[in-house]
Amino acid sequence: MSEAVTFSNYINGEWVQGASGEVGESVNPARAKEVVGRFQKSTAEDLNQAVQSAATAQKKWRKLTGAARGAYLYKVADILEARTDEVAEVMTKEMGKTLPEAKGETARGVAILRYYAGEGMRKVGDVIPSTDAEAFMFTTRKALGVVGVITPWNFPVAIPIWKMAPALIYGNTVVLKPASEASITAAKVVECFAEAGFPEGVVNYITGSGSIIGQGLADHEQVDGVTFTGSDGVGQQVGQAVLARGGKYQLEMGGKNPVIVADDADLDLAVDATISGGLKSTGQKCTATSRVIVDQAVYETFKEKLVAKVSELKVGDGLDSDTWMGPSVSKGQLDTVLSYIEKGKEEGANLLFGGRRLEDGELGDGYYVEPAIFDGVDTKMSIAQEEIFGPVLALIKVDGLEQAIEVANDTKFGLSASIFTTNIARMMTFIEDIDAGLVRINAESAGVELQAPFGGMKQSSSHSREQGTAAIEFFTEVKTVFIKG
Ligand code: NAD
Repeated sequence: MSEAVTFSNYINGEWVQGASGEVGESVNPARAKEVVGRFQKSTAEDLNQAVQSAATAQKKWRKLTGAARGAYLYKVADILEARTDEVAEVMTKEMGKTLPEAKGETARGVAILRYYAGEGMRKVGDVIPSTDAEAFMFTTRKALGVVGVITPWNFPVAIPIWKMAPALIYGNTVVLKPASEASITAAKVVECFAEAGFPEGVVNYITGSGSIIGQGLADHEQVDGVTFTGSDGVGQQVGQAVLARGGKYQLEMGGKNPVIVADDADLDLAVDATISGGLKSTGQKCTATSRVIVDQAVYETFKEKLVAKVSELKVGDGLDSDTWMGPSVSKGQLDTVLSYIEKGKEEGANLLFGGRRLEDGELGDGYYVEPAIFDGVDTKMSIAQEEIFGPVLALIKVDGLEQAIEVANDTKFGLSASIFTTNIARMMTFIEDIDAGLVRINAESAGVELQAPFGGMKQSSSHSREQGTAAIEFFTEVKTVFIKG
């Protein structure tokens, strides 16, 4: 695609080239030779400028009323909504999810913007009874200041927006550093913010490597808070760096999300939810189902139904209307998926279905892999413990609910978990005993509503929550005020 556009950084209200003059290429995973766009390989000096501009802008931005800040977010929402088709197409071309999913994600971004625009009118404190009859005590909240936003490629519209919108409404200014694999989609989102006419420096966007720009945000003394979504290894590193200088951080990381299928489950529902939760977006969701823990009484029937349906899924370019599942995001991600499929076989699991790379002659030079289903998986195997981030389902046979929950909890992660059962006592036991921030009953493991708290337990998260009214906890700090009459 020779007409690929080179995008600049957006700093202090202007689109500016990086100091190094070097650019990176973002390619289409469905057509590896097609460059979707180019992004700046920024330097520490570029980052410093972005942070300075955010710090200066914050002094005025925090003085606006919540309603005034909300008015800007409503404008971005309208602009993004009007540009849905364009943004979604870039997303599909850049990271491979199908066009309907990309449109759905863009609509989600619009809804999040409107939700947080409204948050500008919500109460922010409490009146607390004092033991002193002549005193009045209450809480109020203060914005953190400059917030560094570090995002992954898998939800390149929704994740930047679900961090930026609450950061902005509560009076912070932001420096967004998106994943390189999704820099162009993020630039499209930032264009909408730019068009909405925010005061200069309130929203900044800077691209480049994780080790320079991401780490630079984590280390920068003037970045008061860092909100990160990505892999657990990088997240821990970011958290430690921010903590070491006394900043505030929020980490949302990986998952190894289980689905339990009890012997009384609606098996057709469980099969459909396993497929949708595990394989949509090519399994590249933090909440994707990856372990399917099935009671022995229904194991064979469930397995047959699952394989029959998965074998009908059409893999292809996400732009094609008959494609159900697109490619992996990159060659690196494809290789990771294929290496886990090999490891699964080596460690003794039985590859029941799929798992082949779909190569030239079948689908061109895209990074395609067939969905894979493993049978005979032991909970200690790598494919049952490590996040693969690809279309790989591991079936684990268990005897009863107690064992199912024990297996479900047997990983370092605790993001999302589902159970399929018609028995209310079993549902209650699951709610009580499962180690997961998102507990889902008769529903797929992926799928969140924007007004509800989102986040994980154990190594999936820094134990804070995003979205909904929970977001205020990270993006502000509480002041307790005591007035003596
Ligand atoms: P990643 O950790 O490789 O990258 C995430 C971001 O961190 C990118 O912007 C990257 O450039 C940056 N980065 C890389 N090295 C850095 C460093 N040393 N310091 C600071 N920043 C650095 O993750 P990814 O491959 O982009 O995304 C996939 C991962 O994201 C998966 O593990 C997935 O589970 C996770 N994820 C989690 C959630 C959630 O809400 N829990 C949502 C989506 C994705």
